[in-house]
Amino acid sequence: TVKTRFAPSPTGALHLGNLRTALFNALLARSRGGHFVLRIEDTDRERYRPEAAQALMGDLRWLGLAWQEGPEVGGPAAPYHQHERTAIYDAYYRQLEAEGWAYPCFCTESELEMARRAQRAAGRPPRYPGTCARLSAEEAARKRAEGRAPALRFRVPPGEEVRFTDTVHGEQRFATDEIGDFVIRRADGTAAYLFSNAVDDALMGITDVLRGDDHLTNTPRQLLVLRALGLSGPRYGHMGLITGDDGAPLSKRNGSRSVAELEAAGYLPEALLNYLARVGHTYDEAGLLELDGLAAGFAPARVSAAPSRFDADHLRHWQAEAVMAADTQRLRDWLAIEAFIPPGYADELLNAVRANIRFPEDGKEWARRVFGPPPALEPEARAAIAEAGAELFETAVAAAEEGYNRFQGLRAALQERTGRKGKRLLMPLRAALTGRCSGPELQPIVDLMGGERVVERLRRAAE
Ligand code: GLU
Repeated sequence: TVKTRFAPSPTGALHLGNLRTALFNALLARSRGGHFVLRIEDTDRERYRPEAAQALMGDLRWLGLAWQEGPEVGGPAAPYHQHERTAIYDAYYRQLEAEGWAYPCFCTESELEMARRAQRAAGRPPRYPGTCARLSAEEAARKRAEGRAPALRFRVPPGEEVRFTDTVHGEQRFATDEIGDFVIRRADGTAAYLFSNAVDDALMGITDVLRGDDHLTNTPRQLLVLRALGLSGPRYGHMGLITGDDGAPLSKRNGSRSVAELEAAGYLPEALLNYLARVGHTYDEAGLLELDGLAAGFAPARVSAAPSRFDADHLRHWQAEAVMAADTQRLRDWLAIEAFIPPGYADELLNAVRANIRFPEDGKEWARRVFGPPPALEPEARAAIAEAGAELFETAVAAAEEGYNRFQGLRAALQERTGRKGKRLLMPLRAALTGRCSGPELQPIVDLMGGERVVERLRRAAE
């Protein structure tokens, strides 16, 4: 069975780029009846933020992206926080060292920096020059005795080619001669990402990984580690990153907001999911889909290798779709507008203004415009009222007071008494009654206002 995973490093808030990675992996598992695993990659204790792991689990739950194995739910490969897996990694480090696949490296950061500079100056890509690969056991022991704490490096075999089939990019080949020996355990004893990520995918039985293109060159290194350990890795697929308007990877600087910020701004989970599912992945279905529908249409072959631009308008489009699709009770909870509505009128109001709601403040605004005191007139509304002239509204007040205060009756009476019709009648009425020149269909909201409010607003326009 298919097993996918989301393996975030909890260093900060969950953003849209990482959320898309989580979503695609969740959809892939769901589409195949498999498991979606959550693993917290928190071995880097300096960058780790304890509250970030909690927050991202809250974000995933809010979005409905449940994990079948992972923190808080457990599973056969527990623990799922990498910092609790040190003993597991240590056994594999010992195996690699014993078999000559790894060696201690005592190079200091400044020595490494010097080597990198020399290589750049020679026009070569910076790679570890192999200084400690040749240390004898005695030399290593002497350095240890001096109190130097070594990192552990993987010994990359020369003259080979690592091949794999990327589920998004197709056939890949990397020459090992281009790959320098890399760190698999930091000098402070913690596991380096390349190592713990690959080992855990194998130990947790992960079959498929979808991740950002920025990890493509990590894959040959990870496959080499797994091969040396006799473990088999997942199928990898690397997808085009999400970029901001400037073409650079999406980040705080070019407009990315965190999931928590988007939630606070009033976005609905379905909007985020439907938007992101279509960033770098195509669907035949153009309408809003639930998670099962998104999963049914999901296929790694439909994932784009090219980068995709973040588009705030598309996100707002999906927000509008999500509002249209939400049932009324859900909208009532989300909008929290009961305080602005006379008891018993909420459902009718919501159905009347639903198409004009993107965010909770829009719902509050329409609730106030309909049920509150006469709303402030926007400049265009003021102009439309002035242009129509006081006489129209005096006639309207009279008609409404005679009992023509429901929309159809009022409209018919005014058409007959003033000869105005169509937009020439409806625009000034809309302006007077709602304070704006655009908005929901008039009939339902005017009838919700009731006679007294209608007269009050018409009277103000007549002044
Ligand atoms: N912890 C890694 C990250 O957040 C995981 C990358 C991967 O999916 O392999 O970048």
